[in-house]
Amino acid sequence: MPEAQETVLEIDLKSLEHNYKYLRSKLKGETKFLSVVKAAAYGSAPDIVALKLQELGTDYFAVAYVKEGVALRHAGITKPILVLHPQAVNFETLIEHYLEPSIYSFRILNQFLAVLQEKAIDDYPIHIKFNTGLNRIGFGEKDLTEIISIIQGESSLSVVSVFSHLAATEDKNEEKFTRNQITLFEKLSSAFCTSLNLNPLRHILNTSGILNYADAQYDMVRSGIGLYGYGNDSRVDEQLKPIATLKTVISQLHQLSENESVGYNRAFITQKNRVTATLPVGHADGIGRQYGKGKTFVMINGQLAPIIGNVCMDMIMVDVTEIPCKEGDEVILFGPQLSAHKVAKTANTISYELITGISQRVKRIYLP
Ligand SMILES: *Cc1c(COP(=O)(O)O)cnc(C)c1O
Repeated sequence: MPEAQETVLEIDLKSLEHNYKYLRSKLKGETKFLSVVKAAAYGSAPDIVALKLQELGTDYFAVAYVKEGVALRHAGITKPILVLHPQAVNFETLIEHYLEPSIYSFRILNQFLAVLQEKAIDDYPIHIKFNTGLNRIGFGEKDLTEIISIIQGESSLSVVSVFSHLAATEDKNEEKFTRNQITLFEKLSSAFCTSLNLNPLRHILNTSGILNYADAQYDMVRSGIGLYGYGNDSRVDEQLKPIATLKTVISQLHQLSENESVGYNRAFITQKNRVTATLPVGHADGIGRQYGKGKTFVMINGQLAPIIGNVCMDMIMVDVTEIPCKEGDEVILFGPQLSAHKVAKTANTISYELITGISQRVKRIYLP
């Protein structure tokens, strides 16, 4: 692996391949695999990651917004792309790029129908989203009769899938709730398909769903975090490989004596002689202030160094008193050696937030 000379996010495509194959191995051969590449492929590198997944044989992609789908089309993605949370203002762009909307409310359904009718389009692929308890987006049980009557005989649409999203697949304590969601999905999707005499794909599982509720895989699963190497469970984490490593270098070392302060607002005061290292990465790169003041560690030459004082916009300072190191040495903020899940936990958040928050200022590099 190349030594970092500045802050970089290194993406290992072999690890992506490993994770994809691992997740697929948990499924029946005929189950389709949808790769969730929203939020810049969870903060990694959407183009390169999606192209690799396309080459590996993923059946479908999903993004949150139309803009993200357009970028994938420009990158050369030809597989179908589900847009999970489109807004009507982008429907023309969505259609131009042959992106497939999730239809989650009557408002969005009617707005989409109006655009299709105006353009005299037939059979446009859509995905019907049911709310089974997450209470975020989707049609509820009470809406069933009305959606069926709108879609019945509507030639501008073609329902290619019916889906829902589970609220707590990683939490064994919520197994009963999850099972109820799956039962409700079975009921709603069956009633929908039977009334309309349709046979669309059905899907409800995310990554932790694949690992904990594989019996509910239906025709397709939607995986995000697992592809990037995190499984919301330490046993699963051992089987997966984080694809992204955030690394930087020591810019400068300081020898401080007793009762000196470090950083803005003097948030760290030395009790005795200390050696500190300044690193060229800060909250504008995605390492938020919640990671400062001793909460979180970085890895230098295999040892953990706490982030001291306040995180600055472009820099952090770490205590390296006990660690043999010199200016120019490599520093790991997270990656296979230092799990983003563990780092995130020190600041009471989750790997998803840490990895998706790495800003575009950080250069992405690839290991083929
Ligand atoms: C983000 C998202 C996923 C992916 O979830 P992971 O836990 O990252 O696997 C799946 N489905 C929907 C609707 C999502 O919004």
